[in-house]
Amino acid sequence: MRCVRWMEQAACRGKDTQVFFPSEEEKHMDRKIRELRAKAICETCSVIEPCLAAGEGEEGIWGGLTEAERSGRHRRRKLSRPMVEMTTPGENPWVVIDGEGGCQIWQRETEKTWHGVEWAVVKNQEIIYISHNLDDTYARYGSLIHS
Ligand code: SF4
Repeated sequence: MRCVRWMEQAACRGKDTQVFFPSEEEKHMDRKIRELRAKAICETCSVIEPCLAAGEGEEGIWGGLTEAERSGRHRRRKLSRPMVEMTTPGENPWVVIDGEGGCQIWQRETEKTWHGVEWAVVKNQEIIYISHNLDDTYARYGSLIHS
């Protein structure tokens, strides 16, 4: 990739970029852990917006979001009932991290958990389950999300 000006300020500059991109043999939980590592780098980055724009249609983490989250962000603009309505005032907004249409997993940053994240299972735009454990969420609802 050609290095453009905003990339000079990227927090990932000079770091191992493998953490931002999936590999063919990667297992589900390995992917989640790798993505959290990449997102931790992105959290300190000052060029998230140009990175998001550059990552449109690309694989991997761009602007702190996975491909699914970026496409969810795009879809949310089209929803008649925006996700932010389901966020308690003062709390962070949810982003879609997995699932299409009927059943999805949403994620948001929170101070309620030691790792700073919580997940919700959302069916037909209603939160049906909230968890502080992504493994547990997938164990209970993974089949619904990927059906
Ligand atoms: S947002 Fe993340 S992937 Fe994009 S330039 Fe910054 S650190 Fe790199």
